[in-house]
Amino acid sequence: MGQKKRICVIEDEADIRRLVTEVLEGYGYEVSCWASGREGRAAIQRQPPDLCLVDLGLPDMDGLTLVRELWEDVRFGVIILSGRGGTSDRVLGLELGADDYIVKPFEPRELVARVNSAIRRREQLASATAGGPAGAETGRARFGPWVFDLGDLTLTADDGRQESLTAAEAALLLTLVKAPKRVLSREHLQGSDLDRDDFPYDRSIDVRVSRIRKKIEDDPRTPRLIKTVYGAGYLFAADVTWLR
Ligand code: CA
Repeated sequence: MGQKKRICVIEDEADIRRLVTEVLEGYGYEVSCWASGREGRAAIQRQPPDLCLVDLGLPDMDGLTLVRELWEDVRFGVIILSGRGGTSDRVLGLELGADDYIVKPFEPRELVARVNSAIRRREQLASATAGGPAGAETGRARFGPWVFDLGDLTLTADDGRQESLTAAEAALLLTLVKAPKRVLSREHLQGSDLDRDDFPYDRSIDVRVSRIRKKIEDDPRTPRLIKTVYGAGYLFAADVTWLR
């Protein structure tokens, strides 16, 4: 596994900090905890972690504001940790670019699964950005009128239109363009071992797909690039060429 991945936890409840530390250290992660947004932010600026877990209800600032600031730095992932289970918070968090969202109380197993998959998605994105793991793949893919540049997470259309993606959206789009014309399940797209029987149904992939559609489809309500396959998942319908 190489170097230990570093996880930064920003959470004011001591019990949760203790639990998260114990569980994640047990899986070989290096964990540092901060009880306030200000301390956490300072620590991240000193040394960016691989992944950051942020509680939304912090004593000194709104966690969503912090998440919005943090995701601008695409070097690390962000998972929201929240006692608020409301759909609007959840969707808002994902729209702000968070990689995932965990509602308290949570099972240690769910925490580990979500952390592992966020880290894995980041690694896939990083290796694609660095030129791709295999042969012809570079950091740019063409499909329809778009060129998807993994270096700066942008999409540029033939007519000059530009769209930018969050890291989480880029990771999802990468998984789709790497397997065109194939049906991919939500679990696969989540890049995870998350099993729908074990964990409550997770809409994060659907939210992200609809965000990407708004950026790349002429009419997001009748998508031609990313198709929904009912009961099965999604399919990327366009031909993909990797540019040299
Ligand atoms: Ca809190």
